[in-house]
Amino acid sequence: MSLPSTTQIVIIGGGVMGASTAYHLAKRGCTDVVLLEKQEFFGMGATGKCAGGIRYQFSTAVNIQLSLLSLPMLDRFEEELGQAIGIRRDGYLFLLTNERDVAAFRQNVALQHSLGVQTEWLDGDEVRRRVPLLAADDVLAGAFHDKDGLADPNSVVMGYVGGARRLGARAFTGVTVTGITTEHGRITGVITDQGRIACQAVVNAAGPWAGVVSDLAGVPLPITPLRRQILTTTAIPHLPPDFPFVLDFAQSLYFHREGDGLLTGQSNPHETPGFDESVDRDWEMEHMEAAIKRLPLLERAGRASHWAGLYEVTPDAHPVIGAAPQVEGYYVVAGFSGHGFMHGPGAGLLMSEIILDGRATTLDISSLDYNRFAEGRLIREYNVV
Ligand SMILES: Cc1cc2nc3c(=O)[nH]c(=O)nc-3n(C[C@H](O)[C@H](O)[C@H](O)COP(=O)(O)OP(=O)(O)OC[C@H]3O[C@@H](n4cnc5c(N)ncnc54)[C@H](O)[C@@H]3O)c2cc1C
Repeated sequence: MSLPSTTQIVIIGGGVMGASTAYHLAKRGCTDVVLLEKQEFFGMGATGKCAGGIRYQFSTAVNIQLSLLSLPMLDRFEEELGQAIGIRRDGYLFLLTNERDVAAFRQNVALQHSLGVQTEWLDGDEVRRRVPLLAADDVLAGAFHDKDGLADPNSVVMGYVGGARRLGARAFTGVTVTGITTEHGRITGVITDQGRIACQAVVNAAGPWAGVVSDLAGVPLPITPLRRQILTTTAIPHLPPDFPFVLDFAQSLYFHREGDGLLTGQSNPHETPGFDESVDRDWEMEHMEAAIKRLPLLERAGRASHWAGLYEVTPDAHPVIGAAPQVEGYYVVAGFSGHGFMHGPGAGLLMSEIILDGRATTLDISSLDYNRFAEGRLIREYNVV
């Protein structure tokens, strides 16, 4: 299929946000949509590099509500789109090792309860009893929610792209957007490395590259790329099937079962913003040292693979979902700050409502507007890993 010269809506970025937006627009009958992805395949940006975690445990109402909207959409995904997405409900266990985090998480759990999320509060002994494989003498408390878990990011992207295409939307890989054109403050088209497409609306779903893409429209967007890396291990025979997604909160260190082994990641607090996606071997050594300390049986496993990807970080660790007021027809769904895979389903639905109805109707996400940065209305998320 060749690139069209005109369409109604161009979506830039074929990760979970772009794919979900394309599908939800098409589902509403808006099929004159073109999804453009610069890489060879869809989902090779942050989405394909992510850990696949899905959780309800957040510290702000809007993030919990995005999970309450999105995770049931993942439960219905296979039925709706005919694509299995490997959902596992292993539960998320946050380990808390200092009084400050204990106090903050007590508040977060109370907020979660008020919104119907039944997170369990565990004392240190309960944590040690539940997951005896952990070296957890220093753990003061834990927060566990059994409906948190995992899903496969690439299957979600491909399910949405396939669904959008079946409904009539067009989706292309290997096309880089190099310009966004406007006239009298309105979107008129995009320029790509393969020609111009005239359009009335552009959706910036470019993940860690969203700031760079936004510059093409002359609209500043404070989204910073930040490297995060992951390692998977060879088989670990003694790993129980019910081993949860464990997050050592103070160390930003996590593990979950992956195949016969484990996947583990740790955020480097000294990482500097940038587009470098090479694996930092020095940090990997530090990460593995901390990981073995927390989960000693890791010493018996080898490395199966490792990679680095980019978080798309905003000043308050919340995304922008909405219209950018400077340019009519320009929309942003980006900046999920390292926990966006799980919110992709809801975000795409809400973006389609904003475009087609003028505002999000399923959920009040007015707090996630573009203007909040300039107007100092930041909403801080505590449960960022
Ligand atoms: C190591 C790591 C672990 C993570 N773990 C989790 C997790 O457990 N759970 C969770 O929910 N989230 C997690 N995340 C975060 C999650 O991956 C992101 O929030 C989410 O995938 C963002 O999706 P996106 O569609 O906005 O971005 P992306 O998936 O990056 O998609 C943007 C796309 O835009 C394309 N693009 C950019 N510029 C252009 C252009 N000019 N023209 C055309 N195409 C362009 C890119 O190639 C890219 O494919 C993790 C992220 C990382 C890096």
